[in-house]
Amino acid sequence: MSKVPHRLYLSEQDLPGQYYNIRADMKTKPAPLIHPGTREPLGEEELAPIFCREVIRQELNNDDPYIDIPEPVQEYYRTFRPSPLCRAYHLERALDTPAKIYYKFEGNNTSGSHKLTSAAAQVYYAKQQGVTELTTETGAGQWGTAVAMSCAYFGLDLTVFMVQGSYDQKPFRKHVMETYGAKVIPSPSAETQIGRKIREEYPDTAGSLGCAISEAVEKSVSGSNCRYVLGSVLNHVLLHQSVIGLEAKKAMERIGEYPDIVIGCAGGGSNLGGLMAPFMQDKLKGLKSPYFIAVEPASCPTLTRGRFLYDFCDTGCVTPLAQMYTLGSHFIPSANHAGGLRFHGMSPVLSRLYADGVLDKAIAVEQTPVFEAAVAFAKAETILPAPESAHAIYAAIEEALKCKESGQAKTILFGLSGTGYFDLNAYAQYSDKTMRDHVPTDEELEASFARIPQ
Ligand SMILES: *Cc1c(COP(=O)(O)O)cnc(C)c1O
Repeated sequence: MSKVPHRLYLSEQDLPGQYYNIRADMKTKPAPLIHPGTREPLGEEELAPIFCREVIRQELNNDDPYIDIPEPVQEYYRTFRPSPLCRAYHLERALDTPAKIYYKFEGNNTSGSHKLTSAAAQVYYAKQQGVTELTTETGAGQWGTAVAMSCAYFGLDLTVFMVQGSYDQKPFRKHVMETYGAKVIPSPSAETQIGRKIREEYPDTAGSLGCAISEAVEKSVSGSNCRYVLGSVLNHVLLHQSVIGLEAKKAMERIGEYPDIVIGCAGGGSNLGGLMAPFMQDKLKGLKSPYFIAVEPASCPTLTRGRFLYDFCDTGCVTPLAQMYTLGSHFIPSANHAGGLRFHGMSPVLSRLYADGVLDKAIAVEQTPVFEAAVAFAKAETILPAPESAHAIYAAIEEALKCKESGQAKTILFGLSGTGYFDLNAYAQYSDKTMRDHVPTDEELEASFARIPQ
């Protein structure tokens, strides 16, 4: 009997030709974005100064299950997709577990993460509309790099507001973005009104995604042929990332497998939302019942300790309100190394699925055990994982060890959303045991909840 290969690569012909829109199959749809003043749902016209038209149409589309991937985007995808589905034989052996562990590896492109899959689409739609300049924010740097790469490819200018803490921790990220032609500004900056205001209120802040988003949005609406792109949270981003799940499902079908458990780290929810989409479709249709687990950092415990409410997506309160699990848009998480998970809110789609109990479980983990899992994985499987992805590894190991106890050979699928080559300061802190994690107290969270608009 031929065993399943360590790395299963689909061919170019297997790339999906359409994105899968999970909202079409949700009985309760995620709530619409609303205007903070009027509280009315926002339509295409109101969103048009910020986002590109096609992206807005996708954002508002709760009905069409499949949306074509434009041919030029598919052509770009072929440079780094399909991404491999890997069987973690060595990790299974190290854990001595009967579980079968699979992971979908999204780190095989220069951005080092899954983010390029949405960046490529968003930049293409901007280009097609005649937009010449884009702005965005980046936390850990993966999204900024992904947009910089896509802008270089499709020929657009780009300004990236990079969270100050990451800017200091990961200087090489800036050089990569600049290599692809982007302008990189540490946030909060003196270049925007919001940035100056946040610096006044919090002079020592290391910044946050919430602040950087405010700055990028302010800059985009002040330019005439400029739009803003966002790398997570919103519906259209999850739509693009469904490619991860569609490929994973096809690859698993080829080897006669189906996951009992699907795990992903959750910052704004895009990699988990993408990976689980076609499996969640099966669950929503009553065909299968995989168990879904979201993993977040204890320093930014959005699903596990947040409130399910309408809130701003940014600290400066310039964005629309989204109904989601939130820690409050004024919550500034401590400088956890998993920069991509330091966002106060969660995708409205994932929030809805979690509130409805079909996204089964969320756990929050402190960073030292996360790095322990990262190192165990790296030693066994050879890939150096991103700290964000290591949250998913932690949960996969935990589930595999449960299988060892119970003797059940479950099939586990997790998202290895990226690589950690720019996170070596964090790995160094883990090695020399100076790593600390700040878990917010209930009082800190209450103070932040109190500032959520009523
Ligand atoms: C951005 C990022 C994340 C978190 O974002 P999601 O939208 O929750 O996926 C996770 N892993 C990596 C490698 C990232 O770059």
